[in-house]
Amino acid sequence: MSTLVISEPVGRAWAHIMESYSPATIEFAGTLIVQLIFFWVPCVIYMSLDALFPRFSERHKIQPAPKQPTRSEILDCFSVVLKNQVISTALHGLMIYISTLAGKGAFRVDASIPTMHEIIRDLFISLLLREALFYYSHRVLHHPRLYPKIHKIHHRFTAPVALAAQYAHPIEQIVANILPITIPPQLLNSHILTFWIFMAYELIETTTVHSGYDFFLNAAKMHDLHHEKFLIYFGAIGVLDWFHGTDGSKMAAKRKAKGSAAVGKGVSEDRNGSVVKGDKSD
Ligand SMILES: [Zn+2]
Ligand SMILES: [Zn+2]
Repeated sequence: MSTLVISEPVGRAWAHIMESYSPATIEFAGTLIVQLIFFWVPCVIYMSLDALFPRFSERHKIQPAPKQPTRSEILDCFSVVLKNQVISTALHGLMIYISTLAGKGAFRVDASIPTMHEIIRDLFISLLLREALFYYSHRVLHHPRLYPKIHKIHHRFTAPVALAAQYAHPIEQIVANILPITIPPQLLNSHILTFWIFMAYELIETTTVHSGYDFFLNAAKMHDLHHEKFLIYFGAIGVLDWFHGTDGSKMAAKRKAKGSAAVGKGVSEDRNGSVVKGDKSD
């Protein structure tokens, strides 16, 4: 199927939307729709597997049944995630209001549709920038002063489920979850359609890596291990973990050499949830 066959109907539909609504309304409503579909649908699919296909679910769960969260923990997770999404949607509305007053929107919302070349280029650069923003903000959140007040909440789920992707302190939700996804396309002056594609991908990625399942060539393995062991795999792609020596193989070798459960910069927790300071030597 040629690009033209896809882009013509998309172009017509997009032109119709642009004629019918203001750029502010399109940015606000479109972003909310992307969040609702690409976060909640994967969550429902992943989290219903256990009830619908228990044997299949058990075969593919990374961590064993006794470590999985209880029903009341999942209900608490649901209310925290809902609160976070209300806060981030309200903040997005406020940002759009301010940028409308300033006469310049955060994203490019116009009648044109981006070319395939522009979309791929922006997605690739955004992916790398997001990795850097997420990795370093995540490492900062493991600082002994910040961890107990902020990031400890996200680490409540040592065996995560998809919904736990946004189970976080509101500061973490903004600094580590929202800004690393929204800043890169804004820096690139990306088209709003490119931003929505990027956001949809990142939401599927975060629900998948928190799902607790070994699907998509065990894509969740690294972040699942971060939830279980705390001081390894701070990033999403793995490039910066390799660069900084926080990938699993190097950390396992250090742990073996030092005979310690908490190796690496920052803090982790012991089995009772008490904060344990990591080794500062790396
Ligand atoms: Zn996580
Ligand atoms: Zn962490």
